Amino acid sequence: MQFQNNLDFAKQLDANDPLKEFRSRFYIPNINGEDCIYFTGNSLGLQPKTTQDYVINELEDWANFGVEGHFHARQPWFNYHEQFPSLLSGILGAQPEEIIVMNQLTVNLHLLMVSFYAPTPKRYKIICEAKAFPSDQYALESQVKFHGFDPETAIIEVAPRSGEHTIRTSDILDAIQTHGDEIALVIFGGINYYSGQVFDMEKITSAAHAAGAYCGFDLAHAAGNIELQLHDWKVDFACWCSYKYLNSGPGGVAGAFIHQKHANNTAMPRFAGWWGYEKSTRFQMKKGFKPIATAEGWQLSNVPVLSMAAHKAALDIFQDAGMDKLIIKGQQLSNYIIFILDDINQKLNEPVIDIITPRNEKEKGCQISFCVNKKGKELFEALKQHGVLADWREPNVIRIAPVPLYNRFEDIYRFGEIVLSILTHQL
Ligand SMILES: *Cc1c(COP(=O)(O)O)cnc(C)c1O
Repeated sequence: MQFQNNLDFAKQLDANDPLKEFRSRFYIPNINGEDCIYFTGNSLGLQPKTTQDYVINELEDWANFGVEGHFHARQPWFNYHEQFPSLLSGILGAQPEEIIVMNQLTVNLHLLMVSFYAPTPKRYKIICEAKAFPSDQYALESQVKFHGFDPETAIIEVAPRSGEHTIRTSDILDAIQTHGDEIALVIFGGINYYSGQVFDMEKITSAAHAAGAYCGFDLAHAAGNIELQLHDWKVDFACWCSYKYLNSGPGGVAGAFIHQKHANNTAMPRFAGWWGYEKSTRFQMKKGFKPIATAEGWQLSNVPVLSMAAHKAALDIFQDAGMDKLIIKGQQLSNYIIFILDDINQKLNEPVIDIITPRNEKEKGCQISFCVNKKGKELFEALKQHGVLADWREPNVIRIAPVPLYNRFEDIYRFGEIVLSILTHQL
């Protein structure tokens, strides 16, 4: 499509958008008394207007039933989590039995590494991306130390080549081949949180397997954003959070994927708790852990119902919208941002904005990251005063993520107008 940088054109795209009704299902925060331009759905997704009712229902059931709510709540709590696999299966490209909603993201990463990182003196290395999200870096480092290895030698980071911002797939595959039978685990983000680069999960997984290693992905920025086919790609495990693109509230309950071939294997090593125990005999409370033969066998605790109620409210909206449509619109939104930012450089007659996210659709989702070659921090602060919520990462990267459920093409047009005006008049 040939884009244009004007308001009528942006409004026309919105008028033709099959998902245009969904914006009204969300609360849009205000800045200076007006709807802000919310481009931080990659950090905390907005609140659906239905969320409060879903949560209040559970509070009412708790008030009315007390402990009996475990079995008599409108949606009984003892198996409340069982609603989620079917809702998430299309978002993840996973079989329901491969999915469990539980805990928080970094907690799940550790629990999955208990199962999938079992280093030996010969095979102990982890291959990962340079500049992984800090929590992931700390998780990997502490796991390596916990097993008595040195992070300096055990963690192999694949970085962009000098002068480049994204990591070449061929460099990832080469690193896997080079370290071969010394690799215990290959773990990447589905999307790098900083650059917005989407990794080729299928190729990385198959290279890891060829080296005899397990392969997992942190999908914090991928779940609810891009197409995922975890089952078919034969990914061993994955984890994600629900508060970014999945709009399920701050610190919301997270999730984990364990491929069928491992989920069905009750001999897989793991840390255990009673909610992972085989259901028919769980309440005999006997000694000796017998895991459920699905991803549920990794669940430890009885379920955080209030946080899950918020998750359910959000996922019901995803069901209505359909992941296919969301992916198409997400690409159009990020394509439009790229067009607008390029146009700003042209109007300024100098490349002030340097987009670091890959431009091709296979390697990006909704998020576009760009360096601002002069006065980046000033631009970022001025944006907020003009009602734009974006995200700043040192040393000079602005990340913006228009989300197909609630952002409009008009938001992007207005954002561009504001950026151009700040860069020409104010800085
Ligand atoms: C957002 C994010 C996290 C946050 O972890 P929590 O355990 O939810 O606090 C971790 N890793 C990645 C890649 C993220 O994007």
